[in-house]
Amino acid sequence: MEESREELREKFHRRLAAHDCKLTRQRKDILEVIISEPHSHFNAEELYEKVQQMNPEVGLATIYRTLDLFCDLEIIHRLDFDTSYKSYELNVEDQHHHHLICLQCGTITEFKDSVLEKFEQDLEKTHNFDIVDHHIKFYGYCEECSSNKGESKNGK
Ligand SMILES: [Zn+2]
Ligand SMILES: [Zn+2]
Ligand SMILES: [Zn+2]
Repeated sequence: MEESREELREKFHRRLAAHDCKLTRQRKDILEVIISEPHSHFNAEELYEKVQQMNPEVGLATIYRTLDLFCDLEIIHRLDFDTSYKSYELNVEDQHHHHLICLQCGTITEFKDSVLEKFEQDLEKTHNFDIVDHHIKFYGYCEECSSNKGESKNGK
């Protein structure tokens, strides 16, 4: 079962407290914005714009510092997508998934595929290797960018 927004909020508030990190108004607001869309992938600038609507006092420097803190506490994951921005996502349990990354517009699409999990089990058997995690990324062009490419090829 997926954790509700209330459960996520409580869990992460407790985690901050457990690490002697004060739950400041700014941290609270930033966390609230992230929890409001638990499956989104975002960068610091995108988060900044959303937090601004809730609390205009939060500066971009605070956003960067808080993202680092939240990464350390495993509240969020930093996603290594090789795009120009660092992306992040909330650490939601039992939401193991993979990513399709558009090289043109940077859109990130999530997918789940049990075939990959089966492949992992086969690898464990074949190599007698205890696998604990994996990250899989596919690079290419999203539907929109592929169709745009097609248009320009036909001389527009
Ligand atoms: Zn695209
Ligand atoms: Zn994701
Ligand atoms: Zn997987």
